[in-house]
Amino acid sequence: MTVVDREQIEGLRAIRAFLKVRTSYDVLPLSYRLIVFDTALLVKKSLNILIQCGIVSAPLWDSKTSTFAGLLTVSDYINVIQYYWQNPDALAQIDQFKLNSLREVERAIGVNTIETVSIHPLRPLYEACTRMLQSRARRIPLVDVDDETQREMVVSLVTQYRILKFVSVNVKETQMLKKPLRDLHVGSYTNLAIAHMETPVMDVIHMLVKKNISCVPILDSQGTVLNVFEAVDVIALIKGGDYEKLNLSAGKALELRSEDFPGIYTCTINDRLDTIFDTIRKSRVHRLIIIDEAKQLKGVLSLSDILDYTLNSSLGDDGSQ
Ligand code: ADP
Repeated sequence: MTVVDREQIEGLRAIRAFLKVRTSYDVLPLSYRLIVFDTALLVKKSLNILIQCGIVSAPLWDSKTSTFAGLLTVSDYINVIQYYWQNPDALAQIDQFKLNSLREVERAIGVNTIETVSIHPLRPLYEACTRMLQSRARRIPLVDVDDETQREMVVSLVTQYRILKFVSVNVKETQMLKKPLRDLHVGSYTNLAIAHMETPVMDVIHMLVKKNISCVPILDSQGTVLNVFEAVDVIALIKGGDYEKLNLSAGKALELRSEDFPGIYTCTINDRLDTIFDTIRKSRVHRLIIIDEAKQLKGVLSLSDILDYTLNSSLGDDGSQ
């Protein structure tokens, strides 16, 4: 075993130990806002609120029963889009959809329903991470029970990004992760879902659903990466309940992005997790697109890939974690 190997293992051990002694409460800032949607809200209104607030998901609250009703995410809007695509004549009905109709929509198109996984904010972060990895959720609501009323309360939610950023800020041993990506089993390199500027955006949305992924790289005819269509891009696409824009090409759809779109992040297989954690610390990265010197697509490194590697990769010959 080389020094680099040993340090990599030590770095991973330190991160795992850290995640086991910290809780979701530790990740939350002292002061924060929480936007919760009543399930009686119209779907099209919820879209506008997300856009105005610059967020992409919200916990749902059923005020009839005073209970937490799951987490509304971009996948739910994608389900509405699919429903529309299968039932284009139902536009008037879709226009009146409330958030509590989403379960019926999901049943009608035969997909998974709204994410209901949650965690108590005092449970170790490690557990929040494993729950997200198991359910493939990218964020998890923190749900507590009020001592006096015994009612559920949604405290906040944590995302994979927030947790990885918290690690990058607080665990100096991330600097020991010096093995290049090419020597690690992390990320996806084969059977990549890709599209071109002229691909109909609906084809791209179908790819997101079929593969349960959150991004599709957009390439030119030479395989050079030009952009990335992200699942969150559908929010701008159906803003205000207007479904006409679903007929656009991927390239045109990307022009609807807000001015402050931060851009896409790339890396190469020679990059190491120490520098990737640095990038996570400094910027709101949602994934890294792996390219070569000629900007040709090589792979995708998602936050869930990084989290999975950090938590679950083997640490030695005995296979122990
Ligand atoms: P996350 O769960 O972090 O948001 P994704 O949903 O994008 O990430 O990724 C889920 C899994 O699918 C990851 O293992 C990732 O490497 C892989 N993946 C992401 N995008 C693509 C793609 N366009 N083609 C193939 N696999 C992908």
